[in-house]
Amino acid sequence: MSTKVTKEEALDYHRVPNPGKVAIATTTKLETQRDLALAYSPGVAYPCEEIQKNPELAYEFTSKRNLVAVISNGTAVLGLGNIGALASKPVMEGKAVLFKKFAAVDSFDIEVDETDIDKFCEVVKAIAPTFGGINLEDIKAPECFEIERRLVEELNIPIMHDDQHGTAIITSAALINAASMMGKKIEDLKVVVVGAGASAIACSTMYKELGVKNLIMCDSKGVIHKDRTDLNKYKRDFITSTDAVTMEDAFTNADMVLGLSKPGTFTVEHIALMSEEPIVFTLANPTPELFPEDVKSVRPKAIVGTGRSDFPNQVNNVLGFPFIFRGALDVQARKINMPMKMAAAHAIANLAKEPLTADLKALYGDLSYGREYIIPTPFDKRLMVEVSAAVANGAVETGVARVKEFDLETYKAKLAL
Ligand code: NAP
Ligand code: MG
Repeated sequence: MSTKVTKEEALDYHRVPNPGKVAIATTTKLETQRDLALAYSPGVAYPCEEIQKNPELAYEFTSKRNLVAVISNGTAVLGLGNIGALASKPVMEGKAVLFKKFAAVDSFDIEVDETDIDKFCEVVKAIAPTFGGINLEDIKAPECFEIERRLVEELNIPIMHDDQHGTAIITSAALINAASMMGKKIEDLKVVVVGAGASAIACSTMYKELGVKNLIMCDSKGVIHKDRTDLNKYKRDFITSTDAVTMEDAFTNADMVLGLSKPGTFTVEHIALMSEEPIVFTLANPTPELFPEDVKSVRPKAIVGTGRSDFPNQVNNVLGFPFIFRGALDVQARKINMPMKMAAAHAIANLAKEPLTADLKALYGDLSYGREYIIPTPFDKRLMVEVSAAVANGAVETGVARVKEFDLETYKAKLAL
């Protein structure tokens, strides 16, 4: 089925049958006067009092345990840039649909008309009691780093800026499989990251955690090296320890390039400087830095990934965020930490090695683990079980889960239902 859509089709999709893409559904019966007395006054006072005495009981008596806020200020929306809070609403509603359809997570989209870091954090903190988790979305760099850092520090529910960590988790899964397919150790790879914004900084942080030692980051002014005087503190963490100064230095004999910038920031000439079988992820959306056929024209054995559904190896955040929050919510996690993110990346990587199920074959034809299939596809229902379980287990093992009783196999069986 074609994934190309026209403007009119997209506008109709959003207009019909009702404006927007989400609505609220109720979960309890409300048919009699007695139901009314239970759902609202006077009965509702009892759970209120219980929660007042013990705030943890909000997980037992309210929707908090399955509710995520998708919060944006509209400053870095898709490839559209700073379009403002209101105009970002279709994207945030879309995220709510994905949460629900892929992982049965309920969410409210909240568009906050505020770009000041202090004020934005104040708003989010003030509304946080409602939610079991917060997905920050489409907030521009570098403000997004400070906003997330503060909220993680000051709130006791999982907070994740998906543009950063969702991307880091999926590209880490892709890197784990691509490196092993090429018979290379992650520690030995020379990795070039083109881009030094929200996603590139988070991916690079995770790659270091995965074991990457030689990572050269480039921004719009070129390689991030020690003589640069214009670097913010996030970029300074990635000053190269090599002598590389030019993009050509960076690409020479590199084993991998991760593009998180915009179209045309590197060319086939750069690819031609890389090792014989490089890993090339060109993730600028919707138009990648370089198209797969261009990469293959100079490096036919390259493993190539893009952000698009019309090429193999789509790095799509929907492989991650619904299940990361599913797992975190189910153990009432206080945060989403690096071990949980790592567990998610490994679960995604491992799933790609499993044969396709019959329903996936019907959707995608015959795919099997290899250069054109290094990460699972979005409609792989096993993601729900494997990724959510890995994240929940990671939370329990690192002591950030609130639940006292957790059995991995029992939880997996429940997820599979
Ligand atoms: P961002 O925070 O705006 O960062 C963009 C970065 O690109 C900046 O660091 C910028 O450098 C750099 N850049 C611009 N021109 C460059 C050049 N000529 N050479 C090298 N670097 C250059 O954006 P983001 O949120 O990280 O996203 C970046 C891109 O990745 C977008 O196209 C986005 O759609 C895509 N993306 C895809 C996925 C996915 O496929 N799943 C996930 C996340 C992001 P300065 O710092 O010097 O301005
Ligand atoms: Mg986003």
